[in-house]
Amino acid sequence: DAPRVAIVGRPNVGKSTLFNRLVGKRLALVDDQPGVTRDRREGRASLFDLDFVAVDTAGFEDGSDESLSGRMRAQTEAAVGRATVAVLVYDARAGITPLDRHFAGWLRRRGVPLVLVANKAEGLQAEAGLNEGHELGLGEPIGLSAEHGLGLADLYQALAPHL
Ligand code: GDP
Ligand code: MG
Repeated sequence: DAPRVAIVGRPNVGKSTLFNRLVGKRLALVDDQPGVTRDRREGRASLFDLDFVAVDTAGFEDGSDESLSGRMRAQTEAAVGRATVAVLVYDARAGITPLDRHFAGWLRRRGVPLVLVANKAEGLQAEAGLNEGHELGLGEPIGLSAEHGLGLADLYQALAPHL
């Protein structure tokens, strides 16, 4: 069976953009509205010579809509439960938020191998937020720009030992 890479994190950090870049087709719905990817999406993906199944998730929000939040949580749990490795994405421009901490703690308790990605890292304004990622205690954050295709070689270096 192909290894599975689950892309997780709070809404609007760029998970679907990363998924689309890895899968190479516009399978995932990308939107400015937080949490718009309500269904889990997966597709055959590659990164240089790595082949795997990428799984996009909506992320769970501590939002007002209880049932939607519950569905997001369920699909994130399902994706991580079957994952070879999880990629936790945060927004380097926003820095680490309480919800990012929540995800990090939740994933750590699961014991799933983790790669931490600081997305939207293409500009100088991302520098501080990139460094904040160390606070999560999940190792060196990988600076990435899913939108501009930057940092993919570093992502490769981090993923390769797990796949
Ligand atoms: P998701 O909710 O985590 O799946 O996030 P999306 O992939 O839907 O992206 C949310 C927003 O962030 C969209 O407007 C994207 O165009 C934007 N975005 C995604 N990746 C990047 C990036 O690398 N840099 C910048 N500046 N914006 C990005
Ligand atoms: Mg999405």
